[in-house]
Amino acid sequence: MNIVLATRNRKKVEEIGRVFKGYEVCFLTLDAFPGCPEVEEDGATFRQNALKKAVSVAKFTGCPAIADDSGLEVRALGGAPGIFSARFAGKDADDRKNLMKLLREMKGLEGEDREARFVCCIAIAFPDGSYKTFTGYTKGEIAKKPKGFNGFGYDPVFYPAGYDLTFAQMTASEKDRLSHRGKALKKLYIYLKNQFFIHDRNDLL
Ligand code: IMP
Repeated sequence: MNIVLATRNRKKVEEIGRVFKGYEVCFLTLDAFPGCPEVEEDGATFRQNALKKAVSVAKFTGCPAIADDSGLEVRALGGAPGIFSARFAGKDADDRKNLMKLLREMKGLEGEDREARFVCCIAIAFPDGSYKTFTGYTKGEIAKKPKGFNGFGYDPVFYPAGYDLTFAQMTASEKDRLSHRGKALKKLYIYLKNQFFIHDRNDLL
């Protein structure tokens, strides 16, 4: 089964590839479809943004397409940065600037006020216009300073609940097991397995 990944984020492509490793799914990236139009993420929710991207790419490519939209929600900031996570510090911001802005805005907050969660909504859309969405959450808290060098985005300041390590201090497979994207991907995987009978290649030997 061929599925197009409607993202240009290499880290996300790697994470998706790891969850489906060994399964009869062939992932194509947008590099295989030059000219595929960029989709503006102007939805009001993670779900709307993920769906908009997946539906547009499925229509353009004629293949099932997967898109995700994800971000960090901090309770004491009223859910910010939320859908604006990637551009929290401005249109041209990078991971470091976003993270430093978050720490500045949370200066002086203690205890429960540092609670946060990562959210990931994954949409799969089909060329016939049908679609399905899956959401995963990871609760945790925001560190007072960055720790660790793995992962991306806000990983160096996010402690998943019950752990003394930030996501950026964990290995990729440890993060996959706990992450919002890992959880949403597992739901997608179960759906694909039941609907399309994809198998683990090792089961077929
Ligand atoms: P988008 O889903 O590509 O629109 O961007 C999501 C943004 O949320 C990223 O640029 C990161 O800032 C943040 N984010 C989403 N998932 C993660 C994660 O697993 N770790 C760290 N930051 C994340």
